[in-house]
Amino acid sequence: MYDGILDEMIPFFKHQYGNPSSIHKLGRLSNTAIKKAKKQIAYLINSKPEEIYITSGGTESNNTVINSISCNKYKNHIITSAIEHDSVLQSCKKLEQNGFRITYLKVSDDGLIDPQNIAELITDKTYLVSIMHVNNEIGTIQPIHKISEICHSKNVLFHSDAVQSAGKINIDVQNSKIDMLTLSSHKINGPKGVGALYIKTGVKILPFIMGGGQQNGFRSGTENVANIVGFGIACKLTTDNILKNSTHCNTLKNYLSYQILHQIPYTKLNGTQELRVSNNLNFSFLGVNGEDLINKLDEHEIFVSTGSACKSNTKKASHVLKSMGLSYERINSSIRITIGIHNTMDEMKYVVVVLKKIIEELRHDSPFKYKYDFK
Ligand SMILES: *Cc1c(COP(=O)(O)O)cnc(C)c1O
Repeated sequence: MYDGILDEMIPFFKHQYGNPSSIHKLGRLSNTAIKKAKKQIAYLINSKPEEIYITSGGTESNNTVINSISCNKYKNHIITSAIEHDSVLQSCKKLEQNGFRITYLKVSDDGLIDPQNIAELITDKTYLVSIMHVNNEIGTIQPIHKISEICHSKNVLFHSDAVQSAGKINIDVQNSKIDMLTLSSHKINGPKGVGALYIKTGVKILPFIMGGGQQNGFRSGTENVANIVGFGIACKLTTDNILKNSTHCNTLKNYLSYQILHQIPYTKLNGTQELRVSNNLNFSFLGVNGEDLINKLDEHEIFVSTGSACKSNTKKASHVLKSMGLSYERINSSIRITIGIHNTMDEMKYVVVVLKKIIEELRHDSPFKYKYDFK
């Protein structure tokens, strides 16, 4: 987390332990803290504070949006992409079983969506288009402003999962006419287990969690005040430092990318180089198993992942790389490296040296595999 966040959270575990729904002074203090945090969250995406609903994170926000379609009896079609986060895809799968029609857009071989496809697929049955801003595995940036314009002109709701872009790319939900947007605190150096869903005033969707009627009845359950306070500060710091942070990460990323591609043979970058977020790299190293590589790097205190972190233990090949049409060999040999704002150039240099050495060793153990080039 950013320096200073924890100190601001601690009072809400201690002497300011009021329930924000209580009307006594202690409760009001908590309630005021939540209001302040909502302002800070709204500031990140240029919404109104009352359009921000706190959730337990990106997963819950995405689940809420997709499940909300069941509140519309006349429209039963959703357009999304094949490379969305599983919290969108699995919610869609569930709706499909209940008779809804879902279109999963394909991406190009460098991981991009063509907005024109969306325009052609919208029918009078289409209720929602949900396209992520930045992909979590390959960092590709989708043209959400354009997609949103198309949806707006055809009277279809537009939702974007902006968990990976928030704080890295400027987002303006008013200017971009976005109806719903997902945010998560721990992806912007805030505490885990808290996030938000922006819902534009006037957009009606069903609550996902019901009970005591907190947050205008939209999302019940006593608020996790300390986490919300921490999330608010993370939003503030991230908004104020967006340029500085992305410049820093971009410098490290470009260095790392250049060195890896030039020093390690039979290496490919997955996903476009140009329309890519500042902190993400995804490589395939022919002849090397991605998981073996991760375990070796781990021994050197370098922590990277295959596909998405949430999936590393299910042994399923990345649905994102599959959707790009990459070969099994290329998917199997892929790893994702993400750079944080606290990383340094010295660490990048260390990564290059260690990575090169480990890959040479792993390839030495299986030399037959990289006799031919790969697609
Ligand atoms: C991490 C992530 C999520 C899930 O967010 P949590 O807060 O971890 O539930 C959703 N979408 C994307 C793109 C993510 O990277």
